[in-house]
Amino acid sequence: MATIEHWIGGEFTAGSGNRTGPVFNPATGRQQHDVVLATDADVNAAVCAAHTAFESWGQASLSKRTKVMFNFRELVNARVKEIAELVSDEHGKVLSDAAGEVQRGLEVIEFACGIPQLLKGEYSDQASTGVDVFSFREPLGVCVGITPFNFPAMVPMWMYPVAIACGNTFVLKPSERDPSASNYMAELLKEAGLPDGVFNVVHGDKTAVDALLHHPDVAAVSFVGSTPIARYIYEQGNAHGKRVQALGGAKNHAIILPDADLEFAAGHLTAAAFGSAGERCMAISAAVAVGGAGDALVDLVNRKANEVKVGSGRDGASEMGPVVTAAAKQRIEGLIDSGEREGAKVTVDGRGLRVPGFEDGFFVGPTVLDQVEPSMEVYREEVFGPVLSVVRTDTVDAAIDLINSNPYGNGTAIFTSSGEAARRFQRGVKVGMIGINVPIPVPMAYYSFGGWKDSLFGDKHVHGPEGVSFYTRAKVVTARWPHVSHAYDASLHFPTS
Ligand code: NAD
Repeated sequence: MATIEHWIGGEFTAGSGNRTGPVFNPATGRQQHDVVLATDADVNAAVCAAHTAFESWGQASLSKRTKVMFNFRELVNARVKEIAELVSDEHGKVLSDAAGEVQRGLEVIEFACGIPQLLKGEYSDQASTGVDVFSFREPLGVCVGITPFNFPAMVPMWMYPVAIACGNTFVLKPSERDPSASNYMAELLKEAGLPDGVFNVVHGDKTAVDALLHHPDVAAVSFVGSTPIARYIYEQGNAHGKRVQALGGAKNHAIILPDADLEFAAGHLTAAAFGSAGERCMAISAAVAVGGAGDALVDLVNRKANEVKVGSGRDGASEMGPVVTAAAKQRIEGLIDSGEREGAKVTVDGRGLRVPGFEDGFFVGPTVLDQVEPSMEVYREEVFGPVLSVVRTDTVDAAIDLINSNPYGNGTAIFTSSGEAARRFQRGVKVGMIGINVPIPVPMAYYSFGGWKDSLFGDKHVHGPEGVSFYTRAKVVTARWPHVSHAYDASLHFPTS
C-alpha cells in the first residue's frame, strides 16, 4: 500500500510525524493508500518554503508567470484522463464526471493565463496641475487553500492558478479523503517550470489546518467545505490577521412551474440531484413543485431516477458511482430513514443498494422523497448524497419565500416558460448563483463563484475578477515631478542657500 506524502519545496517528503489516515477506493470499499498527516513542524516547513520562494516569485515578471501558466495549461490538458482516474479511484465519481471537473478547473488556468490583462492598473493624467494618480496591485505573499473531498482537482484549481499568476506562493491542504490529485498537480506545475517552493501540498486534518491558520507568515486563506468548518476558518483566520474567503455548504432548491416543459425539467433535476452521487455543492437537493406541477413531475422523476445506472466509477456504463466513505453512506441512509419516519413518501429507495462485483462498495442508489415538509430533518440538513426531496407550494412567491428562509444561499434554479416568473425569481431570491432552465448554474471561470448567507463567509467569491482582487492588494500613487529650473543646476561651488 503506497503512502501519500507531502510536497514541500519541490519534492516529496514524509514529514516529521507518525500519524496517517486511510484512503479508500469507495467502489470496492477497500483501503488503497495511507496519507501522512502533517504536524505543526511540517506545516511550518511548507509555509517557510513558500515564504522563501515569494522573495523571487513575487518579483517575477508578468511574462514569466504567464509562461508557466500556459505550460501548465498544456500539461493539464494532455493529462485529463490520468487526473480523472486518480479522482475517480479515491472519490468514487464516474470517469466522465471526473474529466468534467478537470475541464472546469482547466478553464480557471486559462483565465489565469490572461493575468497581464487582469492586473492592469488605472492612470489619471493631470489629476491636479502637474500631478498624476495611478494604481496597481501587488501579491499578498503566502496564500493557503483548504479544500473539500468532493472536487479534489477542480476546487483547488479555483484557487492556486489565480493566486500564483498574481505573484503569490501557495500551500494547499487538500481533503485527506482523496489527496492524490493534488500531488499530481504539484508535479505538473514543476514540469511547467514553476520554481520550487511556489506551490506546496501538506496533507492532514485539523492539526494541519490550525497550524496554517495560526502561522504568522500566512497572508490569506481560501477555504471550501462544510458550513461549520467554513465559519470556524473565517473566525480563526480573521482573529489571526489573515484575509479569508470561506465557502460553506448548500441546500439548493429548484422550483418547477406548471408552465415548464416537465419532461425537460425532470431530466435535468435527475441529473442535478444524482450526478456525482449528489456530492456537489451545486447539486439540487430540493425540488419545489409549484401549483399543479407536483404529481406529474414526481412520476417523471421517479421513472428517470430508476433508470440511473449505478456502478463503479471506472465502468464506462456507470452514470453514478458510490459515495465517498462508509460513514457518508450510513449518514445519508439515516437521513432517508428520518424523512420516512417524519411522514415523507419514499417513492424511489436507494438504501441498501448492492452493486454486483462491488458488494462492499459505499453505494447508495438514487432516492426520491415526496411530500417533504420544511420542518423535516431530511429537508433541513445538507444530505450531500443522491437524495431529492420534493416539496410543494401554491405560488411562485411562496417558493421564493421558502428558498429565502433557508440558511444557505449557494445555488438555485427555476424551470418555467414564463419570462415574467423567471425575472421575479432572479430578483427575489437571496442566493448567489441562479439558473433559469439551467439546474447547476456554475459560473464560467471569468465570472466569480460563490453563494450568500451560510454558503460563504467573507466578501470575495472565488476565481474570476473577485479572485484576482482577493489575491492582491492595491496601491495608489499620487506623483508630482516639478519642473527643474536652471537655478538648481549642479555646481561645484559650496552651497550657501
Ligand atoms: P469538510 O468541511 O469536512 O472538510 C473541508 C476541509 O476542512 C478538508 O480539507 C478537511 O480536512 C478540513 N477540516 C475538516 N474538519 C475540520 C476541523 N474540525 N477543523 C479544521 N479543518 C477541518 O467538507 P467535506 O466533507 O470535505 O466537503 C463537503 C462539504 O463541502 C459540503 O458541505 C459541501 O457543500 C461543501 N462544498 C462547498 C462548496 C462551495 O462552493 N460552497 C464547494 C464544494 C463543497
